[in-house]
Amino acid sequence: MSSGSNLRSEDQFVCSICLDVFTDPVSTPCGHNFCKACITHYWEVNVPYKCPLCTEIFKKVGLLEVRREFCFVLMLVLLSC
Ligand SMILES: [Zn+2]
Ligand SMILES: [Zn+2]
Repeated sequence: MSSGSNLRSEDQFVCSICLDVFTDPVSTPCGHNFCKACITHYWEVNVPYKCPLCTEIFKKVGLLEVRREFCFVLMLVLLSC
C-alpha cells in the first residue's frame, strides 16, 4: 500500500521551527503545531506568544495544549515507515 495518495503526509508532522518531526507537540490557538520546546524557546528570544507561522499574537501561553490524539496519529505514521 504505497500509492501516491498519501504522499508527504509526514509534512504535517514536521515542526516549522526545527524542521524535524515534532517532539512533545503542542497547538497554538491559530491551529499551528510546534514542538513544545521549540515554541517556548522561540517566545523567549522573539516576541512572546507570537505564532512564527501566521504571526498572530496570543494573550496567554496557557492556550497551548498538547494534542494527545495528534501524538497517537504521529506514532502510527512513524510505525508505518
Ligand atoms: Zn521543533
Ligand atoms: Zn499560527
